[in-house]
Amino acid sequence: MLVVMSHDATPEEIEGVVRTIRELGYEAAPIPGKQRTAVGLVGNDGKVNADRLESLAGVREIIHVSQPYKQVSREWRAEPTIIRLSNGTEIGGGQVAVMAGPCSVESEAQILGVAEQLRAAGATVLRGGAFKPRSSPYSFQGLGVQGLRLLARAREETGMAIVTEAVDPEGVDAVAEYADIIQIGARNMQNYSLLRRAGRARKPVLLKRGMAATVKELLLSAEYILAEGNPEVILCERGVRGFDTHTRNLLDLTAIPVVQALSHLPIIADPSHGTGLRAKVIPMARAAVAAGADGLMIEVHPDPERALSDGAQSLFPDQFSELMEQIAVITHAIGKEMAPALTRTPALVP
Ligand code: PEP
Ligand code: MN
Repeated sequence: MLVVMSHDATPEEIEGVVRTIRELGYEAAPIPGKQRTAVGLVGNDGKVNADRLESLAGVREIIHVSQPYKQVSREWRAEPTIIRLSNGTEIGGGQVAVMAGPCSVESEAQILGVAEQLRAAGATVLRGGAFKPRSSPYSFQGLGVQGLRLLARAREETGMAIVTEAVDPEGVDAVAEYADIIQIGARNMQNYSLLRRAGRARKPVLLKRGMAATVKELLLSAEYILAEGNPEVILCERGVRGFDTHTRNLLDLTAIPVVQALSHLPIIADPSHGTGLRAKVIPMARAAVAAGADGLMIEVHPDPERALSDGAQSLFPDQFSELMEQIAVITHAIGKEMAPALTRTPALVP
């Protein structure tokens, strides 16, 4: 439930609403807005009797949020959530942000080399798994903390922000220490203890759609993170299981406008895992931007044939540069802007 205050409500009147909500046994979350403040009531599972709140001074109206995901819904917050990274990239609200990099961090030379190529092509966020959730326990599991350190070095050298995955609640702190964005993978979308732990972290979270999850389940998983106090969630469509074996997954581009109608959270697309095939990544990346995605996540490897994971869906760096040029044209055509490219950090200019 949302208690909307009149535009001239005083701080004391807002405080009165907060106090009453607490007296009723719920939590109160004031949400300052451009036009007016609202106070959200959280902690209820079902309709709350609003009689006491309706009559308080300064209250304009009570909105009962009809969706089961509350803080994530557009009813709760009409304005889009914009996530601002320290390198200037904004995710949500009119920019297209591109996150790119190898599936896994494999070595210093690999990650530093490819990061520089990606930065030069215009990507502003570097991806790379240090902890890998692999279908087989015998597959490469990632370099762990050493991988996180290499990502941090790549950030120092290029100015790119870092997104990397946390695979369990215990790993969230280490990832949050090194990364700018904590990724929660498709296999963990409904790992509620991990979601709760990420909700207590002070870093944005990239939440990938589970491979058999509905949009409603994706939004409910995001709600776990917001409910713990972290409002900075980026959703990611990465394909769902289909019946056709021509692609690894079925990239559900419809999810982009569907989510945008239901939620204020940004949504990006990952055509690499969404298709599983290098040749299909570029067309689907273009389509995702045209569909209104707030960004892309693309796997790029300097030598995909030798990649330790997901080589078959990784672009060569040259293909990625070409894709960036095409995306810029599409972005412009739909009235959006690319997240500004990073210039070399002054310390590195010879
Ligand atoms: C990844 O980003 O490398 C990854 C494992 O993705 P997903 O969780 O979407 O499978
Ligand atoms: Mn991968």
